[in-house]
Amino acid sequence: MPKHSILLIYTGGTIGMISDPESGALKAVDFEHLNEQIPELANFDLNIAVHSFDKALDSSNMGPEHWKHIARVIFSEYDSYDGFVILHGSDTMAYTASALSFMLEGLGKPVILTGSQLPIGIIRTDGKENLITAIEIAADKEDGVSKVQEVCVYFEYSLYRGNRTHKISAEDFEAFESPNLAPMAEAGVHITYNVPALYRSPVPELMLRDELDASVGLLTVYPGMPKAYYKSILGVPELKIVILQSYGSGNAPTDPEFIAALRSFIDSGKVILNITQCEEGSVDLGKYETSRHLLNIGVISGYDMTLEAALTKSMFLLGQSDDIDWINEQLQSSLRGELTRP
Ligand code: ASP
Repeated sequence: MPKHSILLIYTGGTIGMISDPESGALKAVDFEHLNEQIPELANFDLNIAVHSFDKALDSSNMGPEHWKHIARVIFSEYDSYDGFVILHGSDTMAYTASALSFMLEGLGKPVILTGSQLPIGIIRTDGKENLITAIEIAADKEDGVSKVQEVCVYFEYSLYRGNRTHKISAEDFEAFESPNLAPMAEAGVHITYNVPALYRSPVPELMLRDELDASVGLLTVYPGMPKAYYKSILGVPELKIVILQSYGSGNAPTDPEFIAALRSFIDSGKVILNITQCEEGSVDLGKYETSRHLLNIGVISGYDMTLEAALTKSMFLLGQSDDIDWINEQLQSSLRGELTRP
């Protein structure tokens, strides 16, 4: 039987960092240095090839251009590999995972993002386990078919749907969670898959959708929010979608001036997408008086989408079309398992 092949895409992040001898600050190193720290990779009965970013990046410096780069590499190498593992900083990993899930439509192979909280050269690193198990999952097949066929994040013994993840800790090894969806797999002595939850695309062939339009803003409501604050955000001419981070099940102040500002944004052919500031649960527009007025003016529900999924999905949809009715409908539908509708 031919060996399975994995493409490892190295973008940077703590996993590949060393401390600068002069300043003591952590800095990213290229894959050659990282590779020296993981002799275990040679023990895999797999062909592992590497695509490395020219310059390893802290993920705070990553954005749509880097997501496109990764998506294009996966698309062009798709037939040559059984699975893909992306080594990535944890800070914006949930954004990259969400963006890739939309850009790679019709995936039939695993794309697993992982990283670490401690650099791989440090004896207590979490990076080795994360990388080794991510590779194992990316190569895992049953009857010749990949068990995972979606974009996932693997961190600290759990595999999550990528567009459901959120970084929850700056320190714990258990740095990620998917608050509204059970993990896709747990790694213990065995890797146990949550088979009914695994995503299967209705599209039979991989399609690259790499047009993104970042004309998306965020408006977080908070007690005492000054008028000038929300008016300035809603007044940014470039913005076509504003994500409203509301309270609880989608509630926001009923102050008529605030509602009028939202209404005039929507009336100018733009979108207000409502997601909750809560870690868990869903927007339920109209449940309370404090969300009924939002429903009445045409604010749409993001249900239980994470901020990361809402933001990247908005960029993705704006890149596909300027038909606002279509965008509204797509935002409220599950495209890659990113939201649960009642
Ligand atoms: N600042 C780092 C990054 O996101 C943190 C990490 O790798 O976990 O690139």
